[in-house]
Amino acid sequence: EALNKILDIKGTIRVFCRVRPFLWTDKIRDQEPVSIGLDRIVVRSSGSRKEFGFDKVFHQEANQEDVFVEVEPILRSALDGHNVCIFAYGQTGTGKTFTMDGTTVEPGIVPQALEEIFHQVSLDNSSSFTFSMSMLEVYMGNLRDLLASKPAIRANETVARCNLNIQTDPKGLVEIEGLTEVDIPDFAKARWWYTKGKRFRHTSWTNVNEASSRSHCLTRIIICRRGDTREARPKVSKLWMVDLGGSERLLKTGATGQTLDEGRAINLSLSALGDVIAGLRRKRGHVPYRNSKLTQILKDSLGVGSKVLMLVHISPSQEDVAETICSLSFAKRAR
Ligand code: ADP
Ligand code: MG
Repeated sequence: EALNKILDIKGTIRVFCRVRPFLWTDKIRDQEPVSIGLDRIVVRSSGSRKEFGFDKVFHQEANQEDVFVEVEPILRSALDGHNVCIFAYGQTGTGKTFTMDGTTVEPGIVPQALEEIFHQVSLDNSSSFTFSMSMLEVYMGNLRDLLASKPAIRANETVARCNLNIQTDPKGLVEIEGLTEVDIPDFAKARWWYTKGKRFRHTSWTNVNEASSRSHCLTRIIICRRGDTREARPKVSKLWMVDLGGSERLLKTGATGQTLDEGRAINLSLSALGDVIAGLRRKRGHVPYRNSKLTQILKDSLGVGSKVLMLVHISPSQEDVAETICSLSFAKRAR
């Protein structure tokens, strides 16, 4: 029992790194500042050498299945009743959305996870499961319901209207007031809702260039498990899959006005998330959940007994080396 507890704590927070391949948009492709090991990344820049350790590293050629194989155990924990949070972190353009969502031919973690949970429960004869799904976006401290039946079309209007409130009940459970929660009886229905939520995320940003990189996109699956019929209360757990806003710093990009404010909001919430994870890692003292909407939403899912997987994304390019070091430093703090 005691040993199990130790192993459990050790396995609570995992940090992976994924290096995206070179793209045609990378200007310098011959210098490689990033060396990739099985569980470490070494970055060489302006004469210095920095090494960063990880639970797992995915090199440029790793495919979606290679990543998913490592994510699967944590999904099983979610079905076993643990709260789970999976985050994609990194500078814009490093592959967060590719990892979480992917493409039709190369589906990412979310669609693969939706398929996998229904596969897993079909193998389990001893319990019965029900699932529900919600999708929301956090933008400049506002919460937007991506599955609402009649979403307003224009972004600004929607932001104002869908500013949902977060409540915490006496038991510490987080409730997002008015957030749409749909039942997903099978994979086909889950995929249908997921596609709908994604489409709304994209269409709502058409007049705000690349603004989706300055918001967080969260998909939540609530898992309800009944072990046997005599058990009065089902076991409920939450699985969060989060495509975080871009972690790039603002000074370099020369951002102004609206873009600057959006970037500030993202930077603040990412550092609040880093503080919470570092707090959990210390396993004692105060964990500062209140500092951002993101951490308030996740409060009951990011604590004792929950599992966290942080996938840090980096670029292999010389041009991005300063941001790469920042992202790797964030990871170091979480680990
Ligand atoms: P982010 O969401 O972090 O801004 P994207 O997921 O949009 O980044 O990725 C940027 C570009 O790089 C996209 O065209 C994407 O398809 C491509 N890309 C990222 N990672 C990979 C990968 N591992 N394999 C192939 N293409 C990738
Ligand atoms: Mg993205």
